[in-house]
Amino acid sequence: MPDFLQTMADRVHSSRKESEAGLLQKPCGAIDLPPTSWAALMRGLLGRCPRCREARLFARFLKPVARCARCDQDWTHQQADDFPAYVSIFVTGHVMAPIVIGLTGIDGLSTLALVSIILPLTLILTVGLIQPAKGAIIALQWWFGMHGFKQERPDSIVDEGDP
Ligand SMILES: [Zn+2]
Repeated sequence: MPDFLQTMADRVHSSRKESEAGLLQKPCGAIDLPPTSWAALMRGLLGRCPRCREARLFARFLKPVARCARCDQDWTHQQADDFPAYVSIFVTGHVMAPIVIGLTGIDGLSTLALVSIILPLTLILTVGLIQPAKGAIIALQWWFGMHGFKQERPDSIVDEGDP
């Protein structure tokens, strides 16, 4: 079909097909490795694959995928264990402490009202932080080549935070 007869929808459809084909044919070397440990950590924090950023890191709430759907990274080496829970509790404690102190200073607030504010907030924070914490910890384990992960970094970039 000549170009001038193509509708806008046809052009969008054909360009989408081309970009999908390009994505599928992308060689393994084209994986967008994070330049720094901080970038890898942020990818894990957001629940994305720390290695390629394009696929999800978690299959379920706290269960990482066995292999990345995009870059085929094996995530079974991760050993976050209880550390995400410690991080989540630590951060929640530091966020909640000033809130609790502030609330207890308010006159006329009953114990029931205090508990009904503090308990749900604490639960939401603790549960909400545990998956990002686990993603970040897995990302750092991968970045530092711990527990059988292959240490991969862009050669030309030196991360100042690394030993
Ligand atoms: Zn990946």
